[in-house]
Amino acid sequence: TLVPMNLSDQIRDIPDFPKPGIVFKDISPLLANREALTEAIRVMAEPYRANPPEAVLAVEARGFLFAVPLALELGCGVVLVRKPGKLPAATRSVEYALEYGNDMLEMHADALTPGQKVLIVDDVLATGGTVAACADLARNAGAEVTAAAFLIELTFLNGRDKLGDLPVTAALTY
Ligand code: IMP
Repeated sequence: TLVPMNLSDQIRDIPDFPKPGIVFKDISPLLANREALTEAIRVMAEPYRANPPEAVLAVEARGFLFAVPLALELGCGVVLVRKPGKLPAATRSVEYALEYGNDMLEMHADALTPGQKVLIVDDVLATGGTVAACADLARNAGAEVTAAAFLIELTFLNGRDKLGDLPVTAALTY
C-alpha cells in the first residue's frame, strides 16, 4: 500500500545547470523512488481517465519515462518524438526556436492517423517551445492534440502562452 507522499520532496534544485543562473529541477530522486514514481503517474493520469486519449506522444528523452506508464494507465499506445536522425522509417520534422539558434524534432510520418486524439507527455514544461513543436508535428499529421501532461510546470516561464488554448496539466507547479 502507498503512504501519501509529498512529490515535491523528491525533486531537487541544481543551481547553475546547464548554464549559470538557471536552477534545474532534477527529477532523479523521484524516478529512483518506487512510491513517488507510482504516485506521480497516478496524479498525471487522473485528469484523463474519464476521457482517455487514443495515443500518447512521448517527448525525448525524459518524456519517454512518463509516457509509457501513462499510456498503459490510460489504455493506449505511445508515439515517439525524437531528436533528428534517431527514427529509422520515413519521418516528418519540425524546426523550433531555442534561446540561441534552432532545434528540430522528428516523428515517424505514419505514426498518427487523421483525427486521432493525442495527449503530449513530457517531464517539464518550461518555455513551452518543445511542446508547441510537438503539437505542430501531431497536427501536421492530421491528429487532434487534446492536451499536454507534465510532471512539472515552471509557471514563471509562461510556457502556456506558446500553447494557445491547449489544456495543460501538471502534477507539480513552481
Ligand atoms: P521548453 O521547451 O523550454 O518548455 O523546455 C522543455 C524541455 O526542456 C523539456 O523536454 C524538459 O525536459 C527540459 N527542461 C527544461 N527545464 C528543465 C528543468 O528544470 N528540469 C528538467 N528538464 C527541464
